Amino acid sequence: MKIVMLGPQGSGKGTQAAKIAEKLNLPHISTGDIFRENIKNQTELGKLAQEYTNLGKLVPDEVTNKMIADRLSKEKKGFILDGYPRNSKQAKALEEMTHIDYVINIEISDNESVRRISGRRTCESCGEVFHTIFKKPKNEGVCDKCKGKLLQRDDDNEEVVRKRLEIYHEMTKPLVDFYRNEDVLIEINGEQPIMKVFKDIVMNLEREKE
Ligand code: AMP
Repeated sequence: MKIVMLGPQGSGKGTQAAKIAEKLNLPHISTGDIFRENIKNQTELGKLAQEYTNLGKLVPDEVTNKMIADRLSKEKKGFILDGYPRNSKQAKALEEMTHIDYVINIEISDNESVRRISGRRTCESCGEVFHTIFKKPKNEGVCDKCKGKLLQRDDDNEEVVRKRLEIYHEMTKPLVDFYRNEDVLIEINGEQPIMKVFKDIVMNLEREKE
């Protein structure tokens, strides 16, 4: 099964993508994670991406499309795509690469998005995500899973989040209508507890299969 996750920053799409990937035994492909990994290792791709991610801007389409085309060509069984496509050019490029079965759109308000993102802390070693209020680690600043250090992502401060949200509304949100017209859209209320959002997604996927 080939699934795309859509939703604004902080909607929980990364968390839900990981849960669906585990349930369906499919790879979770996050463009943000791939860029961050490349930035950490200071690869050529990472050096280029860093200039954009730090400002909350999108990495150029040609670079991102090529990276995803290479990655998807290795996934015959399916995938959960998180963070791509982010604009209509990327959606068209994806259409040419493969057929998508479902697009899951997780909605939250902008205020909720900023509230969630500015408290987000990410493990620098394993990428596990925590929150200063909603998902505190057992020991402050330390990852429960791998004992790595928890840091605020460079692009998770309020100013950059607002910029990322602006881009989301202008470029990514129109994709919701595009996929609704394609009849593959599943709409989910993201302002609910993590397990309830997950339950709603699973229920909808099962209903669609019938
Ligand atoms: P995310 O973790 O999905 O919020 O992505 C973090 C950053 O990576 C974004 O703000 C962009 O700079 C970059 N990025 C992630 N996915 C894409 C994409 N599909 N196209 C362009 N840039 C992206």
